[in-house]
Parts: sequence; C-alpha cells; structure tokens
Amino acid sequence: MQYDTDVIIVGGGFAGITAARELVQRGIRTTIVEARDRLGGRTWTRETSLGRELDMGGTWVHWIQPHVWAEISRYGLDLIASPELDTAYWRVDGEVRTGTADRMLDLLDASMTEMLADARRVLPQPYDFFPLSEEIKALDQVSVAEKIAELDLDPQQRALLDGMWALNFSGDPARSGHTQALRWCALSRGDWKLMFEACATYKFARGTRSLLDAIAADATAADIRLNTLVTGIDETADGVAVTCSDGTILHGRRVIVTVPLNILDTIAVTPGLGHGVTAVAEEGQASSGVKVWVRVKGDVGRFAALADSDAVLNFVQYEYPLDGDSLIVAFGPRSGLIDLNDPRAVEAELRKWRPDLEVVAVDAHDWTADPLSGETWPMLAPHQLDAVSHAARDTTRRIRLAGSDYARGWAGFIDGAIESGLQTARQIMTEFESEN
Ligand SMILES: Cc1cc2nc3c(=O)[nH]c(=O)nc-3n(C[C@H](O)[C@H](O)[C@H](O)COP(=O)(O)OP(=O)(O)OC[C@H]3O[C@@H](n4cnc5c(N)ncnc54)[C@H](O)[C@@H]3O)c2cc1C
Repeated sequence: MQYDTDVIIVGGGFAGITAARELVQRGIRTTIVEARDRLGGRTWTRETSLGRELDMGGTWVHWIQPHVWAEISRYGLDLIASPELDTAYWRVDGEVRTGTADRMLDLLDASMTEMLADARRVLPQPYDFFPLSEEIKALDQVSVAEKIAELDLDPQQRALLDGMWALNFSGDPARSGHTQALRWCALSRGDWKLMFEACATYKFARGTRSLLDAIAADATAADIRLNTLVTGIDETADGVAVTCSDGTILHGRRVIVTVPLNILDTIAVTPGLGHGVTAVAEEGQASSGVKVWVRVKGDVGRFAALADSDAVLNFVQYEYPLDGDSLIVAFGPRSGLIDLNDPRAVEAELRKWRPDLEVVAVDAHDWTADPLSGETWPMLAPHQLDAVSHAARDTTRRIRLAGSDYARGWAGFIDGAIESGLQTARQIMTEFESEN
C-alpha cells in the first residue's frame, strides 16, 4: 500500500494533539483529521457574552493527576485556585437549608466514606485493574443509585449524596456505574475530599487553552486538517484507509480514533470494532449533563449550592468577581431540560436556592447535544467497564482507540486524555521500530 502518512489521528482534542506531539518528535509522519474549526475538543477557552474569557469544557486539574501535571511542569504554566467558598445552600425535599460550605461537606462525609469504603481494597493500584477480577465484574453490575439505596441514610444525607454523584457523573445516578466512583476515589488514595478537590479547585490562570496551545506548538510538524469529518475507516492487512466527508481517502499504517465513545458509532469501521465496544457506544455512557456560566448582578458572596439529581441545575459554584457582579458556574445532570441561552430560565433554577439572585447574562456550550461530542466528561454506565477496557487495550488491530473515555487512570479528565494519547503513541512507535 502507498501510505499518505504513517499515523492518522481522528480528533484533535487533548488525546489527539498529545499523540501527535509524541509521534512527530520521533519523526513519524502524522496527520490529524479534526471535524471542528479548532483544536481542543471538549476543552474550549473562549470569549463569552459575560465579559471575560471562560472555559466552556474541561477546566480543573490537580497534582494528583500525573499526566496533566507533568505537562503543566514541562511548559511552566500557572494555575489559580477557585475561591474558597464560605456559604452553602442545599435542598432537601424542596426545602432550602444553609450553612457553611464546610458544614455541607461534613454532612456528606459519612455517606461518601461508606459508599467508597471498598475503593482502595478493590483497586489497590488503580491503573492496573484489567482483566477485571470477579469482584470488579460484580461491582460493575451496580449503579450509583443502587449503591446509595443500600445505605442507611436520612433524607438530607440521601439528597446530598445523590446530588454529589449526579454532579460527578454529569448524569443520572441510575445510569452511573459504581465502579467509576470507586476508580476516582482509589486514584485519590481513598479520600473523597481530595477527590472533590481534584475535580473543582485548581485551574489554568490563562485558561485550559494555554496547555493545549503549548502541546500544539510542539506538534507543528503534524499535518493538521481542520473542518474535516471522518466518516469511515477500513482496515486491511497492510494499512488503513480513512474516508473523510469531502471525499478524501487517506492511507496510513495506523489510525488512532479519539472521538468520544457516545459518537463512536458515527464512523463506519470495517471490520467492526470488537469486544462489544460498539454496543456500548450505541447504548451510550452515563454523562448527559450541562455546564453553564452565569453572570449574576452584584456581589452574591462565595457560595456553593447543591440539589439532588431531579433538579435541572443541581450544583452551583462561585468563580469570579467581575465589575461589581459575580460569575458563577452551574451544572445539571440532563441536557435538553433547559434553554442554556435563556437568562430567565437559568435564573428560575438558581432562585430555587436563592430567590435574591438576578441573572444578567448566561453563556454555555451544550456538549451533550453537540454531534461531535454527544457527552460531557465520559463516565461509564453499569456493565460497560469490561468492554471499554478491553477495546482500549487491543493492540492487535491497526485501528486504536484513545482518549479520555478509554484512559486507565483519570478517565473522564484532561489527564486521562493525555495519558491515553501518550500511551497509544508510544505503543505505535514501539511497533514501528520492530517493523522497520
Ligand atoms: C462541560 C465539561 C466540563 C469538564 N470539566 C473537566 C474538568 O474540570 N477537568 C478535567 O480534567 N476534565 C473535564 N472535562 C473533561 C475533559 O474536557 C475531556 O475528558 C477531555 O478534554 C477529552 O479529550 P479527548 O481528546 O479524549 O476527547 P475530545 O476533546 O472530545 O476530542 C475528540 C475530538 O474528535 C473530534 N471529532 C469527533 N468526531 C469526529 C469525526 N468523525 N471526524 C473528525 N473529528 C471528529 C471532536 O471534534 C474533538 O475535537 C470536562 C468536559 C466537559 C464537556
């Protein structure tokens, strides 16, 4: 076969650009095919209608996330902390309760600790869980909602725990795999408060784009084709043929597919991907939520708010002061229930905690509705861990799956995307060395 390039990478998010950097630095011809008009995928730092640049997607990082932390060190990027929160509001059976932010976390402590008690025992080395043990297979049948139902909790504890996991999964706890919760906690040495800190505390001083741009600057030798949708991949004995919507067919020695799991079935792959991963893609993983930035009139204080998974918006966190107003970020577990561009609709949701809030403007990107993502941060549903882990580790094919959805460690995070991009690229380099 005549190759146009050595490695074709479908998707230019963190996994794709990291893999490209590794490959071109070894002199391997690499082509990224990206459907959007920009790199970054589910991270997107952009100007907003709220009066400052904000991150529409992936934002927070932490030093317990080793792959992203190595990149932060390598490029010397500055982080800032989200503000320390003083007040919290939480809803229990329609009634608003309030206290310090620490008080709300203390109320969660016993139930979170009990729910995650097995994390370190079951996953002593959390990157190393495949092939799944019989115990992990059994745990993977259980949803977060079922696990919560097993616990002896009062209504307040139940509402808080359910709400916290709807936030963590960006989805419905009834469709959220308990093993995913255990994986997060095991990566945080069994400490759920550290886990929570890792998820929502430290962010890039100049936006997530600062890391993306730094990696991309080391990958300029790659042929990057934006605005190009991949529609099909054919694997033969000696290569791959990648078909794009403009009719171009690219031939390469390997293809790395980094598209989110929920839209994996939009690319026709021949022969089909094995291990049941296509069925998982058709079923869809758990995340289906929304993130929205809100400018609220005046200084509303450094507050957080939480409600259970039935709420349209179920978590809110103060982030920045802006010209006398406040910028807050809100999350909800289900896309499609609220017009994210309608300030009055968002205000109505926020007033369920705080009737004093007056929304000035809103800005969001609906990743779940976006046909190039179909999900927010990937979180598996019950019964999916085996198929996804197996497919992600299959090195017998010329087509490889990479990305945050397939990471061994911090799956769902920027860290996981980098990890997966690095590992996939290194594996292919090793294969090329033995083939040459
Ligand atoms: C709202 C939100 C908040 C988040 N918050 C955090 C956070 O605080 N911290 C954190 O660590 N992570 C967070 N994440 C998760 C993190 O952003 C992602 O896990 C990570 O960026 C995924 O990178 P990726 O390269 O695996 O996939 P993506 O970024 O999805 O990249 C895949 C690329 O493939 C492209 N593509 C899709 N289909 C095709 C096709 N057919 N042809 C060509 N190209 C195609 C897409 O356009 C995309 O650019 C968040 C995500 C969202 C959406």
